[in-house]
Amino acid sequence: MDFARKLELYAELAVKVALNVQPGQRLLIIGPLANGGASLEAAPLARQIARAAYRAGSPLVETIWGDEELVLARYKHAPRDSFGEFSRWFPRALEQHVEAGHAIVSLSANDPDLLKEESPELVSAVQQASSRDMRPFREHISRNQTNWAVVAGATPGWAKKIFPDVTPQEATSKLWDAIWRMSRVDHPDPVAAWEGHLASLAARADYLNGKQYDALKYSGPGTDLTLGLPRGHLWVSGRTTSRNGIPFTANLPTEEVFSIAHKDRVDGVVRSSKPLSYGGTLIDGFTLWFEKGRVTKVAADRNVDMLQRLVDTDEGARRLGEVALVPHSSPIAQSGLLFYNTLFDENAASHVALGNAYKFTLSGGNEMNEDAFARAGGNRSAVHVDFMIGSGELDVDGVMADGTAEPLMRKGEWATSSLG
Ligand code: ZN
Ligand code: ZN
Repeated sequence: MDFARKLELYAELAVKVALNVQPGQRLLIIGPLANGGASLEAAPLARQIARAAYRAGSPLVETIWGDEELVLARYKHAPRDSFGEFSRWFPRALEQHVEAGHAIVSLSANDPDLLKEESPELVSAVQQASSRDMRPFREHISRNQTNWAVVAGATPGWAKKIFPDVTPQEATSKLWDAIWRMSRVDHPDPVAAWEGHLASLAARADYLNGKQYDALKYSGPGTDLTLGLPRGHLWVSGRTTSRNGIPFTANLPTEEVFSIAHKDRVDGVVRSSKPLSYGGTLIDGFTLWFEKGRVTKVAADRNVDMLQRLVDTDEGARRLGEVALVPHSSPIAQSGLLFYNTLFDENAASHVALGNAYKFTLSGGNEMNEDAFARAGGNRSAVHVDFMIGSGELDVDGVMADGTAEPLMRKGEWATSSLG
């Protein structure tokens, strides 16, 4: 199969399986916001997505295109006191689009090192200028107001970070190859392969929801952790239904089933199984100690101050908001690569997230005010940072309210046939 055909199939997956664009639904294609923007090198992917969306009956496909060179031009040449400038029409346009029930896709194709040389003050000034005005839009997205998705495309800037030892062209083609494999584009019928995979993820979530464990217990090298689950927690997998009634899959690939951690009931010690790319640095070989939900101590082989800064962001940043189970045999884990991109890396291994919890992972959560959500065990924070704890050596038990435990994962794989 040649490259053009693979790209066409991939775009079709984005439109049919990820977004599930409905006839009559407009589609807006955006790049990552504020400090990024898909590189123009991702344009062929955007064009294929547009073609597939029109074929699916979309009456109008629009793009708001960022560009990495344009972002750098600002950092290089704009007046130093101008980095708080932000156009209010921009978030309004996004809000109006999703409030009208149209579909939205974000292309993720950015160089994780783009702003490495720029002053952290300017970078955070740009982030701050946008974050308040962007909040209503982000809230719409986190409540699944309409069908939305994030789709990745390989670009030289990103690829050279993953494959530093080959030419940018070779790196880009290696990254595309990895994307095809992880997205099952190389299957004879990719759409059917995804339908099967999404159904088995949903069956796992159903099984775990039926169990309503009181806690999960993790053991592995450097890890001995009990993680409480709030009453009414919901396990969620790849496919969800938007508030306007459209089943969609926000992330392709997706390998996780995930839920909410109880913000006050995490105790013990957990060791990361993969490095964490945060704030432009790589935090490596780190351990977190928890007491009654709070991180009381951190250690890391590399960049411990960045980890400390992360947990010090706000009170919620030192508590867990998400818990996710991913078998070690997932195609992303098997690739053995670090992608410096959450879309892929969080699907490589079982993980937990420091910071904000998703309200939809708690029964009735979307309707709860902040107080009620917190009382139920839901964590709130300005950050949500996933880090990997799963490996071929991790065991996980489900613990019932009466203290009896049953095996969920052994050596990184599902322990019962109802889960595998
Ligand atoms: Zn996750
Ligand atoms: Zn997460």
